[in-house]
Amino acid sequence: MKHLLPELPYALEALEPAMSRETLEFHYGKHLQTYIDNLNRLIQGTPFEDSSLEEIIMKADGGILNNAAQTWNHTFFFKGLTPSQPEIPQRLLKAIEKAFGSFEEFKTQFTQTAVSLFGSGWAWLVSDGDGRLSIASEPNAGNPMRKGLRPLLTVDVWEHAYYIDYRNRRADYLNAWWSLVDWNAVDGLLG
Ligand code: MN
Repeated sequence: MKHLLPELPYALEALEPAMSRETLEFHYGKHLQTYIDNLNRLIQGTPFEDSSLEEIIMKADGGILNNAAQTWNHTFFFKGLTPSQPEIPQRLLKAIEKAFGSFEEFKTQFTQTAVSLFGSGWAWLVSDGDGRLSIASEPNAGNPMRKGLRPLLTVDVWEHAYYIDYRNRRADYLNAWWSLVDWNAVDGLLG
């Protein structure tokens, strides 16, 4: 199965000024494309040639795992953004308040996790088998599905995600990213 660059549900300039067209051109058009090209090359002639991304993430290791997880993570990240942010659905708000006490506390803890992640990686909001929400961080190409957790929301804190727009200011990038989160997409994943 040849993996393809996913279509974005918005134009490359639609997320400005929080996320520039130039960042999307590089992050989506070049970084994600490279992970997909690497994955397609690496799976040739292996048992993963016809596997879904999820199957590869659960079973592979090494370069195949890294490129499959980066393909999944970026697709999930980009599809979780919107230029016209909706109100947080009540069901999601209730679940967040139950887990973290308040929405503001969730935002504080999530931002702290993302800002303090050493090096490259991803911060996640996840749900466990009982529907309990928690915050997780994964280095590099990590994906919480490998630990049996369901991803609901993620933010990419690799430097390539923010260096064009925010240089070294990861906290400024995160502050802008919050304004792009598609809460309807997160709510739809609660199950
Ligand atoms: Mn990235």
